[in-house]
Amino acid sequence: MLKLIACLSLAALPFGACSSQDTEKTPEAPPAKLRVLMLDGQNNHDWRKTTVATKATLEACGRFTVDVATSPAGRDAQEEWADWNPEFAKYDVVFSNYNDGGQCLWSEKTKQDLVDYVSGGGGLVIVHAANNSSGDWLEYNKMIAVGGWGGRTPQHGSHLRRVDGKWTTDPAPTEVSGSHGRQLEFVVESAGVPHPILEGVPDRWMHSTDELYDSLRGPCENVTVLASAYAPRSKRHEPVIMTIAYGEGRVFHTPLGHVGSDVPVHCVGFQTIVARGTEWAATGAVTLPVPKGFPSEDKISVIPPAKVVWKAE
Ligand code: ZN
Repeated sequence: MLKLIACLSLAALPFGACSSQDTEKTPEAPPAKLRVLMLDGQNNHDWRKTTVATKATLEACGRFTVDVATSPAGRDAQEEWADWNPEFAKYDVVFSNYNDGGQCLWSEKTKQDLVDYVSGGGGLVIVHAANNSSGDWLEYNKMIAVGGWGGRTPQHGSHLRRVDGKWTTDPAPTEVSGSHGRQLEFVVESAGVPHPILEGVPDRWMHSTDELYDSLRGPCENVTVLASAYAPRSKRHEPVIMTIAYGEGRVFHTPLGHVGSDVPVHCVGFQTIVARGTEWAATGAVTLPVPKGFPSEDKISVIPPAKVVWKAE
């Protein structure tokens, strides 16, 4: 009320004079929400459930608004595919929960729009089976660095390998291009690379029961592995958090997040890296804290998105 009175008494002053003298105690306005476009509609997983869970996480942390672009339903819908042209440029970041199974169904225009959007400085987020998508589209594979299944062969690129604690590539010409063992809890281990997404995140934390992809393969260009997990099937560390530079754009890629149940996508660790990774892809910085209830090295933490408290411990 005092501030209002002070403003009114200065009403005769030129525009702006009031605000310049009376803003000292005004709380800082929260940053504008980032606009996310989530892609779904094709997937060999329950994509509706994945969209509900990840959208809820992004909205609950308070940093994003989320629109969803659902693709045509089938491969035969030729006319619908020709018209499916999401307006990527209207958004701060595109979030893919979309897996066409290997053969890209998008029109050439829609493909080029995504290339132009990301290479021109846009953000892209890839979660779980989105990295199975479009094995036949080279630029997409450059954006995601590595992918699995979807017709990928050793000719499509290399595996990422941790050797003596450092990440390198391995052409692995006789090995598979995507696999996984049975679902399990596993420790996510930081690669020790300073990065805003992992600032304040414990170096080791227990992820709740999920599918751990191994032997992903691709161009591996401009990729940084931020965290990995030991996969009993491949008997190797496999990348679970990656960032990729594509032109002027930023890509955040996590192979985690298999939805059979909500357990892996309600893991507080998963929600943390997805929300912070999405913020980083959109802006190049992270303001979101590590929420309360983050898992420890030996104990999982599963909390529905609406109940996660996004305040620092
Ligand atoms: Zn899966």
